[in-house]
Amino acid sequence: MSASRRTGWVFDERYLWHDTGTGAGPLPASLSPWIEPMDHVESPPSKRRLLNLLTVSGLLEQLHQVRPRPATEAQVEAVHTPELRRRIQAAAASGRGDAGDGASPFGAASYDIALLAAGGVVAAVDAVLDGEVDNAYALVRPPGHHASAETGWGFCLFNNVAIAARHARSRGLARVAILDWDVHHGSGTESIFAADPSVLTISLHQDGAYPTGSGPVSYVGEGAGLGANLNVPLPPGSGSGAYEHAMTEVVRPALARFRPDLLLVASGLDGNGGDPMARQLLSSEGFRMLARHARQVAEELCGGRLVLAHEGGYNPWIVPFCGLAIVEELSGVRTPVVDPYLAALEGYGQGLLPHQAAAVARAVAQVVGVPAG
Ligand code: ZN
Repeated sequence: MSASRRTGWVFDERYLWHDTGTGAGPLPASLSPWIEPMDHVESPPSKRRLLNLLTVSGLLEQLHQVRPRPATEAQVEAVHTPELRRRIQAAAASGRGDAGDGASPFGAASYDIALLAAGGVVAAVDAVLDGEVDNAYALVRPPGHHASAETGWGFCLFNNVAIAARHARSRGLARVAILDWDVHHGSGTESIFAADPSVLTISLHQDGAYPTGSGPVSYVGEGAGLGANLNVPLPPGSGSGAYEHAMTEVVRPALARFRPDLLLVASGLDGNGGDPMARQLLSSEGFRMLARHARQVAEELCGGRLVLAHEGGYNPWIVPFCGLAIVEELSGVRTPVVDPYLAALEGYGQGLLPHQAAAVARAVAQVVGVPAG
């Protein structure tokens, strides 16, 4: 069991100390007297169990530890308004706050932890650009991809992957691509780079699931950024057949056209077939397939420079196996771990169905508009 690639690993215990308080599912208990308080769905267990599985599998010791450091105010404000940064800072100082939608609560330490999450992805980018590692996975929390320039949203405070992309641009990279395979639309990332032709954003998501109606295939950016945003809305019930079709027919051709200097992935694992927050069917092998395509296309186009930033993923027993498969694929290490949930999820049916192929075909039609690098 030895690594064929140097894979960086970003984690900090404080990521799990981001306090989303009591709730049930996505709603804080404070929203209704009829919600019996339990854990908010964006909670530590799926992330902690992913770390623990990497540890017991032996994979963690094959990875190169990359130390996160807090994102600077300047790095945050290269993406977000100073008002948002200061509002979250002040709310945390008061003991509790909400990122902006009433469903994204946070605690006293969460401003500092959110800076450390964004800074963790920045550190992963630096490690890859400096040649310390070939690729990297940042298991950060809170997630980031729903946060826009002006507000947090959907459990996200600051947009980690967007801050890392702007950082990479500031280091002289001309073109950065962000592939978002979280099951929900990468709404904040799309809006941040909508008019920016130097950052290609591609989101694979469950059609219209969250934010409601967000991420139509028809929206391809605006102004100078026209063409540099692709949405691939997949029907609910999509498995690895539909996802792989989207990768081969849309994502890889779009990236080949754009020719990025770095590929970032907003790596939500909530497209798994047991997730409470969506209705897709991916298994750990589905995520291994996604990671293989990302690795291969990065090797073809940008010297293998690839950084994955953790986003959603809420099933605490399935998420660890999906994350393990991804990191195995990045590093080239195959651990002895056997996914005990694989057979059940494969049994849901993973083949490409005609209505899924039709949805992908609508996104294929937009690839020609991607600015050529
Ligand atoms: Zn999500």
